[in-house]
Amino acid sequence: MPALLFATSNAHKTEEVAAILGGEWQVQDLRAHPGVTLDEETGDTFEANAIIKAVSGSRQLPGLLVLADDSGLEVDALGGDPGVRSARYAGEKANAQDNRVKLKQELSKIPEKAPFTGRFLCCMVLARDGVVLHITHGRVQGHLITQEQGEGGFGYDPLFIPEGFEDTFGVMPAEWKNDMSHRARALATMKEKLATLA
Ligand code: IMP
Repeated sequence: MPALLFATSNAHKTEEVAAILGGEWQVQDLRAHPGVTLDEETGDTFEANAIIKAVSGSRQLPGLLVLADDSGLEVDALGGDPGVRSARYAGEKANAQDNRVKLKQELSKIPEKAPFTGRFLCCMVLARDGVVLHITHGRVQGHLITQEQGEGGFGYDPLFIPEGFEDTFGVMPAEWKNDMSHRARALATMKEKLATLA
């Protein structure tokens, strides 16, 4: 099986990507390469940040295909926040729970704007030896609630209900999320490119 390095240390994201690539690729992540340090995510867009991760990661791993994603949540009533700051919404050292608390607080200040429409967005970038080979995007539309539901998934999942469903990503089985998520959709198109490189 050909190897693919997914440039993240987030085990949840790696699990999702490995599940979606379904046995066709041996997916490793940065936990297997502790010496690799990605450049800081200084971009204003998911694409800019995914390029930074894929290019800096692949420069340090000659010959290896490196896939990087940058993703986050956009809430219309908050002018698109938390956006590219999704991982750091409640502060530089914030964890997922801190970020959910901050989101619930912000939404509670504007009850008149409910239902809080929003979306998860993901950009995937494939690179080798510091050169970008392919870029794809995915999104999943839905709305945010202010009471957490479920303990599955990660990040903002217990607060996000995808369009056409009644449960949050925190409640529904992982396979359902992996069928429709922003990451799954960006990866579905990336898979076609990967097939030409296997
Ligand atoms: P990244 O690791 O820089 O892409 O940061 C993504 C951040 O966006 C995560 O830390 C989460 O807060 C949020 N996020 C991205 N994808 C998801 C998802 O599938 N579910 C819940 N939160 C997500």
